[in-house]
Amino acid sequence: MLGPQGAGKGTQGALIAAKYGVTSIATGEIFRWAIKGKTALGLKVLEYVDAGRLVPDELTIEVITDRLTADDCMDGFLLDGFPRNVGQARALDALLDDHGTALDGAIVLEVPEEVSLRRILGRRACSNCGRNYHVDAPPEKNWTCDECQGEVVERTDDHEEETVKQRLRLYHEQTEPLKNYYEDKGLLKAIDGEGSPDEVFSRIVAEL
Ligand code: AMP
Repeated sequence: MLGPQGAGKGTQGALIAAKYGVTSIATGEIFRWAIKGKTALGLKVLEYVDAGRLVPDELTIEVITDRLTADDCMDGFLLDGFPRNVGQARALDALLDDHGTALDGAIVLEVPEEVSLRRILGRRACSNCGRNYHVDAPPEKNWTCDECQGEVVERTDDHEEETVKQRLRLYHEQTEPLKNYYEDKGLLKAIDGEGSPDEVFSRIVAEL
């Protein structure tokens, strides 16, 4: 799944995974967990994630190779936040090819920049299960997650407008070219990401 920060990839990824019974994998989430758990991976990626820069390809590809060969991916998977550039996309193709499989599609969620910014700057996420909320659509009880009772907080990389803008710049420079990459392979499905989560999800289901 492609789309700028705040396009709704996390929210829609969870809905797609539940409906189609596939495993949703978000590299950003893997990195945030590693940072929180102070693991060796977390220590390596902290400076990049906090500054809104891309984690080096070699490390990211190693993480995704490990994750995609786990048992829960054998019946299908959905990728959110990976690939982020053409090098990662080529590495993913090669990895899948080695396993005799390939991507079925690349969904791109399209939203205007001001919608992205508004959504990210108001975004809050459960520190336990990662579910997303927004200051305008908070959990029912006092910033406690509706699903798992975890604490709902602001992501550190969502806090500074400059960091958010830097991440959006990187999206346009490095990730947006992937639209052509997947278009050329006949895999691209462009979805209007504006509107409520249910509205966007219906559009995705209609395409799939
Ligand atoms: P996200 O949750 O997708 O916005 O990702 C949060 C941060 O994790 C990004 O700003 C990057 O620092 C890092 N990250 C996530 N996915 C990738 C990737 N595929 N390649 C490099 N860095 C990534």
